[in-house]
Amino acid sequence: MITFQELGLKDKILQAITELGYENPMPIQEQVIPFMLSQNNDLVALAQTGTGKTAAFGLPILNMVNEESKKIQALVLSPTRELCIQIANDIKSYASKMREIKIVPVYGGESIISQFRQLDVQPHILVATPGRLIDLINRGKVKLEDVRYLVLDEADEMLNMGFKDDLETILESVPNDRRTLLFSATMPNEIAKIAKRYMHDATEISVGVRNSGADNVEHIYYMVQAANRYLALKRIVDMNPDIYGIVFCRTRQETKDVADKLMRDGYNADALHGDLSQAQRDTVMNKFRIRNLQILVATDVAARGLDVSDLTHVINYNLPDDVEVYTHRSGRTGRANKKGVSVSIIHTRERNRIREIERMIKKEFKQMPVPNGMDICKRQLFHLIDKMENVTINDEQINPFMDQIFNKLQYLSKEDLLTRFVSLEFNRFLEYYKNAPDINVTEKTRDNREGREDRGRPDGKSQRGNRTKRGQKVRLKMSVGEKQNANPRMVLGIINDTTNDKSISVGDIEITNKFTFFDIFADQVNQVLKAFDHSNVRVTIAGERAKEEWSDKHSDKHKRQDGDYKRSDKKKYYSDQSEHSKKSSKKRSANFDKPWRNRK
Ligand code: AMP
Repeated sequence: MITFQELGLKDKILQAITELGYENPMPIQEQVIPFMLSQNNDLVALAQTGTGKTAAFGLPILNMVNEESKKIQALVLSPTRELCIQIANDIKSYASKMREIKIVPVYGGESIISQFRQLDVQPHILVATPGRLIDLINRGKVKLEDVRYLVLDEADEMLNMGFKDDLETILESVPNDRRTLLFSATMPNEIAKIAKRYMHDATEISVGVRNSGADNVEHIYYMVQAANRYLALKRIVDMNPDIYGIVFCRTRQETKDVADKLMRDGYNADALHGDLSQAQRDTVMNKFRIRNLQILVATDVAARGLDVSDLTHVINYNLPDDVEVYTHRSGRTGRANKKGVSVSIIHTRERNRIREIERMIKKEFKQMPVPNGMDICKRQLFHLIDKMENVTINDEQINPFMDQIFNKLQYLSKEDLLTRFVSLEFNRFLEYYKNAPDINVTEKTRDNREGREDRGRPDGKSQRGNRTKRGQKVRLKMSVGEKQNANPRMVLGIINDTTNDKSISVGDIEITNKFTFFDIFADQVNQVLKAFDHSNVRVTIAGERAKEEWSDKHSDKHKRQDGDYKRSDKKKYYSDQSEHSKKSSKKRSANFDKPWRNRK
């Protein structure tokens, strides 16, 4: 394996990167560093973030700048403020032994006056976003006439973000005999045009196959009905308790909705989208960077500036329209030789899109079944057991309490202790997933449902109104029962308030100890389930009747032992919305149920 020494870098640089813990050059560095040090022509490199490209251009540039000349000799352009800061910091760390070298980042969204002051140090290397750089040039604060190295980093992103004109202006403002290095994760025509027009005799290199995801990324997809996307997301997260990932959504609104729901359901999640102020975005990104946040829900644009290398998962809440966007998203995991998973939640009609992406990225996707309640409970249980096995024990701090704890619990056997300890953490998963329906779409359901979805309007309401499948009823189960003083009026109120649709017909209401069962016509089921997705009250499709009754009866041990629960205690009602007052019970419907709030 080749070493950094063999690449011909100066001792000061070698010392700095050794201190950073870099042992061997990454593939892109093996190619770019010797090329930069021994040739004179330009470079077009097809490479994604995470491949080590900052060092690939940063190290040879540092090797070649003249420390004595206090002029901007290298200019690095980057699409976002965050990347700009990151690149400047990386290069500063490579230059930690080169005392004279000054590296300054300038970017939009920050006071230009304070950047004036930073520029007074007369940087050797300037890292800039295009818009701010032009501003500084126009104000006469930055002069590019001594630039010998120009780096366009994430060139495709700069074009996507509308910097084309700015880029051309800058390319025309730097000396003609500079060397240009262009890095891009994708190679759209626009980039090829820029390369042709502004670059000289460019050598092309590519790290990995063009447009392909990194080798250590596994691509998997789950197929559910569109209305069950969120449920599927929760199950995927629950199945991966140590997840550290980004959930990509299409729009700001969807980003907000998904993040809000996750937070409300007790997950350690937050949103990143364009409606946030710069300060808010910084806070969220920092929290995520330091892993104070496990799940970041983001739009593609907002996530651009975020460079985190250890993501375990990238989740496509929907498939992007553009394969290149998919490549970009999935390229955010599986970095630095770690394994990563790119998950897509698709609905039934998106299977062809998967095939299309497979062809473009030359990778196969694996279809996985959405985990069922039992799989998740098992996974969570063993995660808990692993955590217990590996917990750090601080003897000194805990010893003073041990006698007292031991005395208090000594009547319990080891089995009792373990059962109690595990139940403490685990009961809420068992409770939540006890009757969780299978949300996988099988070939059979797929055909039926596709037909049905095709007829429905995008808002889920049937165009054919009440005539559609009115005969079929589906039994639903609501997580409110006698314990919460439920009565039919209240149940109808909750349904009204949550669905905000008075045409929903509700029949055969049956209230038991902890739950309420009721019938809904088949064509309105999705609408109702979807509406309750946002609610603290859970509504699911009722499972097998006998099992439901059994679990309800046994869900409150004490009552059963006291003989308090009798079969006849169940009250059965038949009702239709028209028979009941529609006065809602807003107050009572709130906060009946908090599925694992504060869960970590
Ligand atoms: P980049 O593609 O420049 O964003 O780099 C991705 C990550 O790899 C960064 O966290 C770098 O610090 C790290 N890195 C770059 N070069 C090396 C190397 N030769 N050995 C180990 N880590 C590296």
